[in-house]
Amino acid sequence: MSSTISQKQQWLKVGILTVFCSIAPDIDVISFRLGIPYQHWLGHRGLSHSIIFAALLGLIALLFISEKSVKRKCLYFCVFFASGFLHDILDAMTNGGLGVAFFSPFSDTRYFLPWQPIVVSPLSIRRFLTLRGWGVIKSELIWVILPSLCFMAMVALYRSKKILYRKYRGLINR
Ligand SMILES: [Zn+2]
Repeated sequence: MSSTISQKQQWLKVGILTVFCSIAPDIDVISFRLGIPYQHWLGHRGLSHSIIFAALLGLIALLFISEKSVKRKCLYFCVFFASGFLHDILDAMTNGGLGVAFFSPFSDTRYFLPWQPIVVSPLSIRRFLTLRGWGVIKSELIWVILPSLCFMAMVALYRSKKILYRKYRGLINR
């Protein structure tokens, strides 16, 4: 019973840290307040949107997880890294801005993916609360939220099938 509760707590922690890793790259919006230009390596979509930063976030998130199994630790790191890196990929699929500095701090070159269906969000809340903001929401629903929900449904289906299979095998072996 207690192990089930602690496992639930662990998954909750992993979930919260995953969300944190997926939004943390946009901490760089404070660069505008600090007067750092967009194209600067510390500017928006610069260092904080790099592969190195996503890996660093993954390692920092891992510090909050108490897990003895190295295999599980690696899995958690992959989840944290992937959520941060996916943020960068999705930003590179937007139709605005200067691109993403995937290889910062080694290279300041900004990149876009060849396919950019996602409408870029305005950086000010006032501009977001216009018709343009509605366009951004629609675009994110189609290209981000819907695929995410499909992925989560597939994982849930896979897990429930696995549980059913284990129960079935348990009945057979009796
Ligand atoms: Zn971003």
